[in-house]
Amino acid sequence: MACETYLQPSSLTELAEDLGKMTEKSLVLAGGTDLMVKLRSRPVDADCILSICKVPDMKGIEERDGYVRIGAMETHGELAKNPLIEEYFQALSMACDHVGSKQIRNKGTIGGSLGNASVAGDMLPVLYLFHGEIELYNQNGTSRRVKAEEFSLGVGKTVLETQEVILAIWIPIHKERKSCFVKLGGRREVTIAEISLAMSWESQRGAFHQVDGILGAVDVKPIYLEEADEILGDKEVGEAEKDQLSASLSERIRIIRENRKRQPKLRIRDCEKVYKERAVKGVVYDVLNIMEEMERGYE
Ligand SMILES: Cc1cc2nc3c(=O)[nH]c(=O)nc-3n(C[C@H](O)[C@H](O)[C@H](O)COP(=O)(O)OP(=O)(O)OC[C@H]3O[C@@H](n4cnc5c(N)ncnc54)[C@H](O)[C@@H]3O)c2cc1C
Repeated sequence: MACETYLQPSSLTELAEDLGKMTEKSLVLAGGTDLMVKLRSRPVDADCILSICKVPDMKGIEERDGYVRIGAMETHGELAKNPLIEEYFQALSMACDHVGSKQIRNKGTIGGSLGNASVAGDMLPVLYLFHGEIELYNQNGTSRRVKAEEFSLGVGKTVLETQEVILAIWIPIHKERKSCFVKLGGRREVTIAEISLAMSWESQRGAFHQVDGILGAVDVKPIYLEEADEILGDKEVGEAEKDQLSASLSERIRIIRENRKRQPKLRIRDCEKVYKERAVKGVVYDVLNIMEEMERGYE
């Protein structure tokens, strides 16, 4: 790859100035775990690389105004072991703890995961679950906040403008809620999600109350599971409820597959067709086992 300019701002003011030089052919570099792989695999005609690793405002995990603010340059490794994240957003902690390998977790950032906009990315489903907001910073030195569910526009596409970067992620704190995350991949370690499931709930009288669920990696965007509360909420959960939720998710995946078959560009591999519809049952059982274990742990 030939590239004429490398920019590395070290303050927000410098960042705004450098963003003003970005064109459609410019690239933003964070931890490089995705970008470097892409640059090595195909020729890219870039006029400028903007490295954002030296901007102090891109770092930090702190409680502010009822939210936890996470700098876009925080790595999965840092997030997985952060006490605030462990206390309020267990699903995020679990998701970060299972991203790629230790090397990927040490370099890969939450901002990079969102910027990459992969269908299989683990961060966006979790941010949907927590109703997170993504703060975007631009060449004028101002920022705007976008809801997690409005950020992605499809595979590899986001609302990010050319002269804009992700500055931080804001997640509202709901102290009374617990959460968890499970993903199924092609292998045990260093695996990309084939299916991910994130759940959050309140404990009430020994039952799961106001259950929220998000299904990831099966469609171009994560999916809200309205049925999660209907099936699991405020009752004793046994095999019947687990099977009912599995059947519902399996049906959702079947419909997505049927729709995809009608779009030749999106045609999926034969082996995947039925696999996810069946495998989701295991993911539901795993998630519910963790939810039950977490409840026992809090008794
Ligand atoms: C072996 C391997 C395993 C992986 N496993 C997982 C996994 O289990 N789960 C998972 O979710 N991902 C996984 N990934 C994908 C990747 O590591 C993550 O998405 C990571 O978080 C990317 O962060 P980064 O800082 O390295 O981004 P970079 O590679 O630097 O950038 C990725 C993209 O985001 C853009 N970008 C980066 N930061 C910003 C920002 N602040 N504002 C705007 N745009 C930005 C870049 O321009 C680029 O397009 C894996 C990757 C590899 C190579």
